[in-house]
Amino acid sequence: MFISFEGIDGSGKSTQARRLVAALQARGTQAVLTREPGGSEGAEEIRRLLVEGRGERWSPETELLLFTAARRDHVERLIRPTLERGAWVVTDRFADSSRVYQGLARAENRQLVEELHSLTIGIEPDRTFLIDIDPEISLVRGQSRGGAEDRFESLGIGFQKRLREGFLTLAREIPERIRVIDGHGTEDEVAIRILAAL
Ligand code: ATP
Ligand code: C5P
Repeated sequence: MFISFEGIDGSGKSTQARRLVAALQARGTQAVLTREPGGSEGAEEIRRLLVEGRGERWSPETELLLFTAARRDHVERLIRPTLERGAWVVTDRFADSSRVYQGLARAENRQLVEELHSLTIGIEPDRTFLIDIDPEISLVRGQSRGGAEDRFESLGIGFQKRLREGFLTLAREIPERIRVIDGHGTEDEVAIRILAAL
């Protein structure tokens, strides 16, 4: 089983992905927690080029190619081998993040994102949990986390609102895979909603 978590910055994806893996392991299910961009050695190197870059280092198209290259390495080196040995994979972000960030929010490149995905990646999660949250709240969560701001998160509230709409539109397009989870409330409350949906 291949599960992804998606949502805007600070929505609680990492927290909930970690909790789901712990819950699965407690039930005796082998589950591996991973993340994007990153998740394999090569993809983590590409992550540094993307996340630590300042300002407009890459054009939107170059950025898309780098995210896609990182995803290809992640799939080859970690996701596919883990699924093949029968374990579950739970990833904090996957291709839907590219559909929204690289495909809609930063430039109108949705078609290019889809073409690259089918040419070079080709797999989708079995289930995706979209943690939906008001950006005003996720921003406060991010600030309390302290020091984690990177060049993407500094793009501001308007950008986060566009991302939220992009994710919700995607969930309406693919309801059989993407489940929208209300991300408001305590960590426990959100975790219960996810287990119920699963
Ligand atoms: P990013 O995409 O920016 O890495 P994320 O979506 O993975 O963020 P987390 O890192 O899980 O989000 O959470 C962001 C911050 O909010 C963390 O400090 C986390 O402890 C806190 N947090 C997570 N879930 C909740 C919650 N339900 N209520 C309050 N705070 C939360
Ligand atoms: O989720 P995480 O905080 O680890 O992602 C690192 C940064 O990369 C975030 O600020 C996120 O907005 C950005 N990102 C992106 N496109 C993706 C995935 C993440 O711009 N496909």
